[in-house]
Amino acid sequence: MHNQDQALIFEASTPGRIGYSLPEMDVPELDISDLLPDGYLRTVEPELPEVSELDIMRHYTALSKRNHGLDSGFYPLGSCTMKYNPKINENVARFNGFAHVHPLQDESSVQGALGLLYDLQQHLIEITGMDEVTLQSAAGAHGEWTGLMLIRAYHEANGDLNRTKVIVPDSAHGTNPASATIAGFETITVKSTDKGLVDLEDLRRVVGEDTAALMLTNPNTLGLFEEHIIEITEIIHDAGGKVYYDGANLNAVLSKARPGDMGFDVVHLNLHKTFTGPHGGGGPGSGPVGVKADLISYLPKPIISKRGEEFILDYDRPQSIGRVKPFYGNFGINVRAYTYIRSMGPDGLKAVTEYAVLNANYMMRRLAEHYDLPFEKHCKHEFVLSGKRQKKLGVRTLDIAKRLLDFGYHPPTIYFPLNVEECIMIEPTETESKETLDSFVDIMIQIAKEAEENPEVVQEAPHTTVIGRLDETLAARKPVLKYQRA
Ligand SMILES: *Cc1c(COP(=O)(O)O)cnc(C)c1O
Repeated sequence: MHNQDQALIFEASTPGRIGYSLPEMDVPELDISDLLPDGYLRTVEPELPEVSELDIMRHYTALSKRNHGLDSGFYPLGSCTMKYNPKINENVARFNGFAHVHPLQDESSVQGALGLLYDLQQHLIEITGMDEVTLQSAAGAHGEWTGLMLIRAYHEANGDLNRTKVIVPDSAHGTNPASATIAGFETITVKSTDKGLVDLEDLRRVVGEDTAALMLTNPNTLGLFEEHIIEITEIIHDAGGKVYYDGANLNAVLSKARPGDMGFDVVHLNLHKTFTGPHGGGGPGSGPVGVKADLISYLPKPIISKRGEEFILDYDRPQSIGRVKPFYGNFGINVRAYTYIRSMGPDGLKAVTEYAVLNANYMMRRLAEHYDLPFEKHCKHEFVLSGKRQKKLGVRTLDIAKRLLDFGYHPPTIYFPLNVEECIMIEPTETESKETLDSFVDIMIQIAKEAEENPEVVQEAPHTTVIGRLDETLAARKPVLKYQRA
Protein backbone atom coordinates (compact mmCIF):
# COMPACT_ATOMS: atom_id res chain seq x y z
CA MET A 1 0.00 0.00 0.00
CA HIS A 2 1.45 3.35 -0.96
CA ASN A 3 0.01 5.30 1.89
CA GLN A 4 1.67 5.93 5.24
CA ASP A 5 -1.67 5.84 6.97
CA GLN A 6 -3.13 2.39 6.46
CA ALA A 7 -6.59 3.73 7.20
CA LEU A 8 -6.76 5.74 3.94
CA ILE A 9 -8.17 2.87 1.96
CA PHE A 10 -9.84 4.85 -0.83
CA GLU A 11 -6.65 6.72 -1.62
CA ALA A 12 -4.80 3.41 -1.85
CA SER A 13 -7.09 2.00 -4.52
CA THR A 14 -5.42 0.61 -7.64
CA PRO A 15 -7.77 -0.23 -10.52
CA GLY A 16 -8.13 -3.95 -11.11
CA ARG A 17 -6.70 -5.10 -7.80
CA ILE A 18 -8.94 -7.45 -5.81
CA GLY A 19 -8.85 -8.62 -2.21
CA TYR A 20 -10.67 -11.94 -2.46
CA SER A 21 -10.70 -15.15 -4.43
CA LEU A 22 -13.85 -17.22 -4.65
CA PRO A 23 -14.08 -20.86 -5.76
CA GLU A 24 -15.58 -21.51 -9.16
CA MET A 25 -19.35 -21.55 -9.18
CA ASP A 26 -20.82 -25.08 -9.01
CA VAL A 27 -24.47 -24.00 -9.24
CA PRO A 28 -26.22 -22.17 -12.10
CA GLU A 29 -25.64 -18.44 -12.04
CA LEU A 30 -28.79 -16.39 -11.40
CA ASP A 31 -29.54 -13.21 -13.20
CA ILE A 32 -30.06 -10.71 -10.40
CA SER A 33 -32.43 -8.64 -12.55
CA ASP A 34 -34.84 -11.59 -12.50
CA LEU A 35 -35.01 -11.37 -8.70
CA LEU A 36 -35.36 -7.64 -8.11
CA PRO A 37 -38.08 -5.37 -9.43
CA ASP A 38 -37.08 -2.81 -12.02
CA GLY A 39 -35.74 0.39 -10.54
CA TYR A 40 -34.07 -1.33 -7.58
CA LEU A 41 -30.92 -2.28 -9.46
CA ARG A 42 -27.88 -0.05 -9.65
CA THR A 43 -27.12 1.36 -13.04
CA VAL A 44 -23.67 2.60 -12.06
CA GLU A 45 -21.03 0.46 -10.35
CA PRO A 46 -20.42 1.49 -6.73
CA GLU A 47 -17.19 3.40 -6.24
CA LEU A 48 -15.29 1.04 -3.97
CA PRO A 49 -11.58 0.88 -3.30
CA GLU A 50 -9.74 -1.84 -5.21
CA VAL A 51 -7.07 -3.27 -2.95
CA SER A 52 -5.41 -6.58 -2.09
CA GLU A 53 -6.43 -8.86 0.77
CA LEU A 54 -3.36 -7.82 2.76
CA ASP A 55 -4.14 -4.13 2.26
CA ILE A 56 -7.72 -4.50 3.42
CA MET A 57 -6.59 -6.42 6.49
CA ARG A 58 -4.10 -3.66 7.35
CA HIS A 59 -6.84 -1.09 6.83
CA TYR A 60 -9.10 -2.64 9.44
CA THR A 61 -6.25 -3.35 11.84
CA ALA A 62 -5.17 0.31 11.55
CA LEU A 63 -8.73 1.44 12.28
CA SER A 64 -8.98 -0.86 15.30
CA LYS A 65 -5.78 0.62 16.73
CA ARG A 66 -7.28 4.08 16.66
CA ASN A 67 -9.73 3.00 19.31
CA HIS A 68 -8.80 2.59 22.95
CA GLY A 69 -9.84 -0.79 24.28
CA LEU A 70 -9.49 -2.67 27.49
CA ASP A 71 -7.01 -5.00 25.82
CA SER A 72 -4.81 -2.05 24.89
CA GLY A 73 -4.71 -0.03 28.09
CA PHE A 74 -6.09 1.17 31.43
CA TYR A 75 -9.73 2.23 31.25
CA PRO A 76 -10.84 3.74 34.59
CA LEU A 77 -14.28 4.82 33.36
CA GLY A 78 -16.32 5.31 36.53
CA SER A 79 -19.57 3.34 36.82
CA CYS A 80 -18.66 1.21 33.82
CA THR A 81 -16.45 -1.48 35.38
CA MET A 82 -14.04 -1.83 32.49
CA LYS A 83 -12.26 -4.82 33.94
CA TYR A 84 -10.34 -7.59 32.25
CA ASN A 85 -12.50 -10.01 30.24
CA PRO A 86 -10.82 -13.38 30.80
CA LYS A 87 -10.14 -15.18 27.54
CA ILE A 88 -11.34 -18.51 28.95
CA ASN A 89 -14.86 -17.02 28.80
CA GLU A 90 -14.42 -16.59 25.05
CA ASN A 91 -13.22 -20.17 24.63
CA VAL A 92 -16.24 -21.55 26.42
CA ALA A 93 -18.73 -19.31 24.61
CA ARG A 94 -17.29 -20.68 21.34
CA PHE A 95 -17.86 -24.35 22.23
CA ASN A 96 -19.85 -25.88 19.37
CA GLY A 97 -22.65 -26.89 21.71
CA PHE A 98 -23.10 -23.29 22.87
CA ALA A 99 -22.21 -21.25 19.79
CA HIS A 100 -24.15 -23.37 17.30
CA VAL A 101 -27.40 -24.16 19.10
CA HIS A 102 -30.43 -22.58 17.50
CA PRO A 103 -32.95 -20.77 19.68
CA LEU A 104 -35.82 -22.58 17.96
CA GLN A 105 -34.47 -26.03 18.78
CA ASP A 106 -36.68 -28.31 20.80
CA GLU A 107 -36.16 -28.26 24.60
CA SER A 108 -35.05 -31.87 24.58
CA SER A 109 -32.16 -31.09 22.21
CA VAL A 110 -30.77 -28.10 24.20
CA GLN A 111 -30.71 -29.62 27.67
CA GLY A 112 -27.05 -28.59 28.18
CA ALA A 113 -27.70 -24.96 27.29
CA LEU A 114 -30.83 -24.81 29.47
CA GLY A 115 -28.93 -26.53 32.26
CA LEU A 116 -26.22 -23.88 32.14
CA LEU A 117 -28.81 -21.10 32.29
CA TYR A 118 -30.60 -22.81 35.15
CA ASP A 119 -27.35 -23.20 37.10
CA LEU A 120 -26.46 -19.57 36.42
CA GLN A 121 -29.85 -18.53 37.83
CA GLN A 122 -29.13 -20.61 40.95
CA HIS A 123 -25.72 -18.96 41.40
CA LEU A 124 -27.22 -15.48 41.02
CA ILE A 125 -29.97 -16.34 43.52
CA GLU A 126 -27.25 -17.33 46.00
CA ILE A 127 -25.14 -14.23 45.22
CA THR A 128 -28.03 -11.75 45.56
CA GLY A 129 -30.06 -13.43 48.32
CA MET A 130 -33.21 -13.27 46.20
CA ASP A 131 -35.75 -16.06 45.61
CA GLU A 132 -35.82 -16.23 41.80
CA VAL A 133 -33.93 -14.76 38.86
CA THR A 134 -34.73 -14.17 35.19
CA LEU A 135 -31.95 -13.93 32.62
CA GLN A 136 -34.05 -12.39 29.87
CA SER A 137 -33.22 -8.70 30.14
CA ALA A 138 -30.42 -7.62 27.87
CA ALA A 139 -28.76 -4.80 29.82
CA GLY A 140 -28.77 -2.90 33.08
CA ALA A 141 -31.34 -0.33 32.03
CA HIS A 142 -33.49 -3.09 30.51
CA GLY A 143 -33.31 -4.93 33.85
CA GLU A 144 -34.44 -1.77 35.64
CA TRP A 145 -37.42 -1.40 33.34
CA THR A 146 -38.26 -5.11 33.71
CA GLY A 147 -38.04 -4.86 37.50
CA LEU A 148 -40.32 -1.82 37.54
CA MET A 149 -42.86 -3.57 35.31
CA LEU A 150 -42.88 -6.42 37.86
CA ILE A 151 -43.53 -3.94 40.65
CA ARG A 152 -46.31 -2.34 38.59
CA ALA A 153 -47.90 -5.78 37.98
CA TYR A 154 -47.68 -6.53 41.72
CA HIS A 155 -49.45 -3.30 42.73
CA GLU A 156 -52.08 -3.76 40.02
CA ALA A 157 -52.77 -7.34 41.13
CA ASN A 158 -53.38 -5.95 44.64
CA GLY A 159 -55.80 -3.38 43.29
CA ASP A 160 -53.32 -0.70 44.34
CA LEU A 161 -53.74 1.48 41.27
CA ASN A 162 -52.68 4.83 42.67
CA ARG A 163 -49.03 3.98 43.17
CA THR A 164 -47.70 6.08 40.30
CA LYS A 165 -44.47 7.45 41.74
CA VAL A 166 -40.94 6.08 41.87
CA ILE A 167 -38.49 7.73 44.23
CA VAL A 168 -34.92 8.08 42.94
CA PRO A 169 -32.10 9.71 44.93
CA ASP A 170 -30.03 12.29 43.04
CA SER A 171 -26.97 10.08 43.48
CA ALA A 172 -28.58 7.27 41.43
CA HIS A 173 -27.29 6.12 38.09
CA GLY A 174 -28.77 8.18 35.25
CA THR A 175 -30.65 5.22 33.83
CA ASN A 176 -32.84 4.91 36.98
CA PRO A 177 -35.08 7.94 36.40
CA ALA A 178 -35.15 7.16 32.67
CA SER A 179 -36.32 3.59 33.28
CA ALA A 180 -38.97 4.77 35.75
CA THR A 181 -40.30 7.19 33.14
CA ILE A 182 -40.35 4.58 30.38
CA ALA A 183 -42.17 2.19 32.73
CA GLY A 184 -44.88 4.85 33.04
CA PHE A 185 -44.08 6.20 36.51
CA GLU A 186 -43.47 9.71 37.68
CA THR A 187 -39.99 10.17 39.13
CA ILE A 188 -39.53 11.95 42.46
CA THR A 189 -35.97 13.01 43.24
CA VAL A 190 -34.57 12.79 46.76
CA LYS A 191 -31.56 14.92 47.59
CA SER A 192 -28.27 13.75 49.05
CA THR A 193 -26.88 15.06 52.32
CA ASP A 194 -23.54 16.86 52.32
CA LYS A 195 -22.03 13.46 53.13
CA GLY A 196 -23.25 12.19 49.76
CA LEU A 197 -25.89 9.83 51.22
CA VAL A 198 -29.67 9.67 50.90
CA ASP A 199 -31.32 12.41 52.96
CA LEU A 200 -33.70 10.44 55.20
CA GLU A 201 -35.76 13.48 56.13
CA ASP A 202 -36.29 14.35 52.50
CA LEU A 203 -37.19 10.71 51.87
CA ARG A 204 -39.77 10.66 54.68
CA ARG A 205 -41.27 13.86 53.26
CA VAL A 206 -41.89 12.46 49.74
CA VAL A 207 -42.92 8.90 50.55
CA GLY A 208 -46.64 8.15 50.66
CA GLU A 209 -49.60 6.16 49.44
CA ASP A 210 -48.69 6.98 45.85
CA THR A 211 -45.18 5.49 46.19
CA ALA A 212 -44.74 2.48 43.93
CA ALA A 213 -41.05 1.99 44.63
CA LEU A 214 -37.70 3.46 45.56
CA MET A 215 -34.71 2.75 43.34
CA LEU A 216 -31.42 2.73 45.16
CA THR A 217 -28.06 2.60 43.45
CA ASN A 218 -25.71 1.09 46.00
CA PRO A 219 -22.92 1.97 46.25
CA ASN A 220 -24.29 5.20 44.85
CA THR A 221 -22.66 6.99 41.93
CA LEU A 222 -20.31 8.73 44.35
CA GLY A 223 -18.90 5.29 45.17
CA LEU A 224 -20.33 5.50 48.70
CA PHE A 225 -22.15 2.69 50.51
CA GLU A 226 -25.49 3.93 51.83
CA GLU A 227 -25.27 3.79 55.63
CA HIS A 228 -28.98 3.70 56.43
CA ILE A 229 -30.14 0.91 54.16
CA ILE A 230 -32.33 -0.87 56.69
CA GLU A 231 -34.02 2.39 57.61
CA ILE A 232 -34.50 3.28 53.95
CA THR A 233 -36.09 -0.06 53.07
CA GLU A 234 -38.33 0.13 56.17
CA ILE A 235 -39.55 3.62 55.34
CA ILE A 236 -40.62 2.44 51.87
CA HIS A 237 -42.10 -0.87 53.02
CA ASP A 238 -44.10 0.83 55.77
CA ALA A 239 -45.66 3.01 53.08
CA GLY A 240 -46.54 -0.08 51.00
CA GLY A 241 -43.88 0.50 48.31
CA LYS A 242 -41.25 -1.87 46.95
CA VAL A 243 -37.49 -1.33 47.09
CA TYR A 244 -35.33 -1.76 44.03
CA TYR A 245 -31.57 -2.33 44.21
CA ASP A 246 -29.49 -1.20 41.25
CA GLY A 247 -26.80 -3.86 41.48
CA ALA A 248 -24.95 -3.01 38.26
CA ASN A 249 -21.78 -2.47 40.26
CA LEU A 250 -21.98 -5.54 42.43
CA ASN A 251 -18.18 -5.88 42.49
CA ALA A 252 -18.36 -3.38 45.37
CA VAL A 253 -20.18 -5.82 47.67
CA LEU A 254 -20.00 -9.23 45.96
CA SER A 255 -19.75 -12.10 48.47
CA LYS A 256 -19.78 -9.57 51.33
CA ALA A 257 -23.35 -8.29 51.41
CA ARG A 258 -26.53 -9.35 49.61
CA PRO A 259 -29.38 -7.08 48.50
CA GLY A 260 -31.84 -9.81 49.53
CA ASP A 261 -30.58 -9.67 53.12
CA MET A 262 -30.88 -5.87 53.20
CA GLY A 263 -34.62 -5.99 52.54
CA PHE A 264 -34.72 -5.33 48.80
CA ASP A 265 -37.54 -6.78 46.71
CA VAL A 266 -35.98 -6.50 43.27
CA VAL A 267 -32.39 -6.28 42.05
CA HIS A 268 -30.72 -6.22 38.67
CA LEU A 269 -27.13 -7.13 37.94
CA ASN A 270 -24.93 -6.24 35.00
CA LEU A 271 -23.28 -9.48 33.93
CA HIS A 272 -21.37 -7.36 31.40
CA LYS A 273 -19.74 -5.41 34.24
CA THR A 274 -19.20 -7.36 37.45
CA PHE A 275 -19.24 -10.75 35.73
CA THR A 276 -16.78 -9.87 32.92
CA GLY A 277 -18.99 -9.82 29.84
CA PRO A 278 -17.19 -7.63 27.30
CA HIS A 279 -19.16 -4.40 26.86
CA GLY A 280 -17.52 -1.99 24.51
CA GLY A 281 -19.54 -0.13 21.89
CA GLY A 282 -22.89 -0.94 23.46
CA GLY A 283 -22.44 -4.60 22.58
CA PRO A 284 -24.70 -7.34 23.89
CA GLY A 285 -25.11 -7.28 27.64
CA SER A 286 -27.11 -9.17 30.20
CA GLY A 287 -29.06 -7.59 33.04
CA PRO A 288 -30.68 -10.40 35.05
CA VAL A 289 -33.39 -9.45 37.51
CA GLY A 290 -33.78 -11.12 40.90
CA VAL A 291 -36.97 -10.91 42.95
CA LYS A 292 -38.38 -11.94 46.30
CA ALA A 293 -41.10 -14.59 46.51
CA ASP A 294 -44.11 -12.27 46.23
CA LEU A 295 -43.00 -11.06 42.78
CA ILE A 296 -42.08 -14.41 41.21
CA SER A 297 -45.41 -14.97 39.49
CA TYR A 298 -44.98 -11.77 37.43
CA LEU A 299 -41.54 -12.64 36.01
CA PRO A 300 -41.13 -12.65 32.22
CA LYS A 301 -41.97 -15.98 30.63
CA PRO A 302 -40.82 -18.53 29.85
CA ILE A 303 -39.08 -19.36 33.12
CA ILE A 304 -36.26 -21.87 32.88
CA SER A 305 -37.02 -24.46 35.51
CA LYS A 306 -36.38 -28.07 36.36
CA ARG A 307 -38.87 -30.94 36.31
CA GLY A 308 -37.24 -34.03 37.75
CA GLU A 309 -33.92 -34.28 35.91
CA GLU A 310 -35.17 -32.34 32.91
CA PHE A 311 -34.80 -28.61 32.22
CA ILE A 312 -37.92 -27.02 30.83
CA LEU A 313 -39.19 -23.70 29.51
CA ASP A 314 -42.24 -22.97 31.61
CA TYR A 315 -44.79 -20.90 29.70
CA ASP A 316 -47.66 -21.66 32.05
CA ARG A 317 -47.42 -18.36 33.93
CA PRO A 318 -50.79 -16.59 33.79
CA GLN A 319 -49.64 -13.53 35.78
CA SER A 320 -46.38 -13.03 33.86
CA ILE A 321 -45.66 -9.60 32.37
CA GLY A 322 -44.81 -11.54 29.17
CA ARG A 323 -41.59 -11.60 27.25
CA VAL A 324 -39.09 -8.78 27.51
CA LYS A 325 -36.63 -10.25 25.00
CA PRO A 326 -36.80 -12.94 22.33
CA PHE A 327 -35.67 -16.43 23.31
CA TYR A 328 -33.38 -16.74 26.34
CA GLY A 329 -31.75 -13.30 26.66
CA ASN A 330 -28.22 -12.81 25.39
CA PHE A 331 -27.13 -16.39 25.73
CA GLY A 332 -23.44 -15.85 24.88
CA ILE A 333 -22.99 -13.28 27.65
CA ASN A 334 -24.70 -15.60 30.11
CA VAL A 335 -22.27 -18.39 29.14
CA ARG A 336 -19.35 -16.02 29.78
CA ALA A 337 -20.72 -14.98 33.19
CA TYR A 338 -21.29 -18.61 34.15
CA THR A 339 -17.72 -19.48 33.15
CA TYR A 340 -16.44 -16.57 35.20
CA ILE A 341 -18.39 -17.54 38.33
CA ARG A 342 -17.26 -21.17 38.07
CA SER A 343 -13.63 -20.33 37.36
CA MET A 344 -13.41 -17.83 40.24
CA GLY A 345 -15.24 -19.89 42.86
CA PRO A 346 -16.55 -18.37 46.11
CA ASP A 347 -13.12 -17.32 47.38
CA GLY A 348 -12.21 -15.76 44.05
CA LEU A 349 -15.42 -13.74 44.02
CA LYS A 350 -14.72 -12.50 47.53
CA ALA A 351 -11.25 -11.38 46.45
CA VAL A 352 -12.84 -9.43 43.55
CA THR A 353 -14.61 -7.14 46.01
CA GLU A 354 -11.62 -6.79 48.29
CA TYR A 355 -9.30 -5.72 45.49
CA ALA A 356 -11.87 -3.52 43.73
CA VAL A 357 -12.39 -1.58 46.97
CA LEU A 358 -8.72 -1.55 47.98
CA ASN A 359 -7.62 -0.28 44.56
CA ALA A 360 -10.17 2.54 44.57
CA ASN A 361 -9.27 3.67 48.09
CA TYR A 362 -5.55 3.51 47.31
CA MET A 363 -5.91 5.76 44.28
CA MET A 364 -8.30 8.09 46.07
CA ARG A 365 -5.84 8.66 48.91
CA ARG A 366 -2.90 9.27 46.58
CA LEU A 367 -4.89 11.73 44.46
CA ALA A 368 -6.58 13.55 47.35
CA GLU A 369 -3.54 15.80 47.85
CA HIS A 370 -3.70 17.06 44.28
CA TYR A 371 -7.41 17.25 43.52
CA ASP A 372 -10.38 18.18 45.71
CA LEU A 373 -12.04 15.24 47.41
CA PRO A 374 -15.71 16.16 47.94
CA PHE A 375 -16.57 13.34 50.36
CA GLU A 376 -14.23 12.37 53.14
CA LYS A 377 -15.30 8.75 53.51
CA HIS A 378 -13.97 5.34 52.48
CA CYS A 379 -15.21 4.58 49.02
CA LYS A 380 -16.27 1.27 47.55
CA HIS A 381 -15.30 0.27 44.00
CA GLU A 382 -15.05 3.85 42.70
CA PHE A 383 -14.62 7.41 43.90
CA VAL A 384 -15.18 10.95 42.76
CA LEU A 385 -12.80 13.89 42.73
CA SER A 386 -13.59 17.46 41.85
CA GLY A 387 -11.52 19.55 39.43
CA LYS A 388 -12.59 22.78 41.19
CA ARG A 389 -9.04 23.71 42.13
CA GLN A 390 -7.85 23.29 38.53
CA LYS A 391 -10.89 25.19 37.18
CA LYS A 392 -9.71 28.26 39.09
CA LEU A 393 -6.48 28.01 37.06
CA GLY A 394 -8.46 27.94 33.82
CA VAL A 395 -8.18 24.18 33.33
CA ARG A 396 -11.48 22.36 33.08
CA THR A 397 -12.12 18.73 33.92
CA LEU A 398 -12.70 18.15 30.21
CA ASP A 399 -9.14 19.39 29.54
CA ILE A 400 -7.74 16.98 32.12
CA ALA A 401 -9.65 14.11 30.48
CA LYS A 402 -8.28 15.07 27.06
CA ARG A 403 -4.73 15.37 28.40
CA LEU A 404 -4.90 11.79 29.71
CA LEU A 405 -5.30 10.62 26.09
CA ASP A 406 -1.77 11.84 25.38
CA PHE A 407 -0.51 9.25 27.86
CA GLY A 408 -2.50 6.35 26.47
CA TYR A 409 -5.22 6.27 29.12
CA HIS A 410 -8.94 6.23 28.64
CA PRO A 411 -10.24 9.13 30.73
CA PRO A 412 -12.47 8.59 33.75
CA THR A 413 -16.16 9.50 33.62
CA ILE A 414 -16.49 13.28 33.88
CA TYR A 415 -19.26 15.73 34.79
CA PHE A 416 -21.25 12.89 36.35
CA PRO A 417 -22.76 12.64 38.92
CA LEU A 418 -24.23 16.10 38.53
CA ASN A 419 -24.17 16.95 42.23
CA VAL A 420 -20.36 17.34 42.22
CA GLU A 421 -18.86 20.37 40.48
CA GLU A 422 -16.25 19.46 37.80
CA CYS A 423 -16.72 15.83 38.73
CA ILE A 424 -14.11 13.19 37.90
CA MET A 425 -15.31 9.65 38.60
CA ILE A 426 -12.64 6.98 38.70
CA GLU A 427 -13.16 3.22 38.81
CA PRO A 428 -9.90 1.27 38.72
CA THR A 429 -11.48 -2.24 38.99
CA GLU A 430 -9.81 -5.17 40.71
CA THR A 431 -7.95 -6.56 37.74
CA GLU A 432 -5.26 -3.85 37.46
CA SER A 433 -1.81 -4.13 39.01
CA LYS A 434 -0.45 -1.67 41.57
CA GLU A 435 2.08 -0.54 38.94
CA THR A 436 -0.71 0.41 36.54
CA LEU A 437 -2.60 2.28 39.26
CA ASP A 438 0.59 4.10 40.27
CA SER A 439 1.49 5.13 36.72
CA PHE A 440 -1.99 6.54 36.18
CA VAL A 441 -1.89 8.42 39.50
CA ASP A 442 1.58 9.79 38.61
CA ILE A 443 0.20 11.14 35.34
CA MET A 444 -2.83 12.66 37.09
CA ILE A 445 -0.42 14.40 39.50
CA GLN A 446 1.70 15.59 36.58
CA ILE A 447 -1.43 17.04 34.92
CA ALA A 448 -2.35 18.84 38.16
CA LYS A 449 1.16 20.39 38.12
CA GLU A 450 0.81 21.32 34.46
CA ALA A 451 -2.46 23.07 35.30
CA GLU A 452 -0.46 25.29 37.66
CA GLU A 453 2.67 25.80 35.62
CA ASN A 454 1.75 25.37 31.98
CA PRO A 455 -2.03 25.32 31.60
CA GLU A 456 -1.95 25.64 27.77
CA VAL A 457 -0.55 22.15 27.37
CA VAL A 458 -3.62 20.79 29.15
CA GLN A 459 -6.11 23.19 27.57
CA GLU A 460 -4.93 22.26 24.07
CA ALA A 461 -4.73 18.50 24.61
CA PRO A 462 -4.79 15.93 23.12
CA HIS A 463 -1.56 16.35 21.19
CA THR A 464 -0.84 12.77 20.15
CA THR A 465 -4.13 11.31 18.91
CA VAL A 466 -5.15 11.00 15.24
CA ILE A 467 -8.06 13.33 15.86
CA GLY A 468 -7.81 16.23 18.30
CA ARG A 469 -10.79 17.87 19.95
CA LEU A 470 -14.17 17.41 18.44
CA ASP A 471 -17.14 19.63 18.85
CA GLU A 472 -18.83 16.83 20.75
CA THR A 473 -22.35 18.17 20.44
CA LEU A 474 -21.99 18.66 16.71
CA ALA A 475 -20.36 15.25 16.36
CA ALA A 476 -23.32 13.64 18.12
CA ARG A 477 -26.06 15.67 16.45
CA LYS A 478 -24.67 15.94 12.92
CA PRO A 479 -22.18 13.13 12.50
CA VAL A 480 -20.33 12.97 9.19
CA LEU A 481 -20.72 9.31 8.34
CA LYS A 482 -19.58 9.38 4.72
CA TYR A 483 -16.00 8.86 3.79
CA GLN A 484 -14.46 12.12 2.77
CA ARG A 485 -11.23 12.18 0.86
CA ALA A 486 -8.54 14.28 2.36
C1 LIG B 1 -23.99 0.77 33.94
C2 LIG B 1 -25.01 1.01 34.94
C3 LIG B 1 -26.37 0.92 34.59
C4 LIG B 1 -26.88 0.71 33.18
O1 LIG B 1 -26.46 -0.46 32.61
P1 LIG B 1 -26.54 -0.66 31.01
O2 LIG B 1 -26.18 -2.08 30.79
O3 LIG B 1 -25.59 0.31 30.42
O4 LIG B 1 -27.95 -0.37 30.59
C5 LIG B 1 -27.30 1.09 35.61
N1 LIG B 1 -26.91 1.37 36.87
C6 LIG B 1 -25.62 1.49 37.22
C7 LIG B 1 -25.25 1.78 38.64
C8 LIG B 1 -24.62 1.31 36.27
O5 LIG B 1 -23.34 1.44 36.63
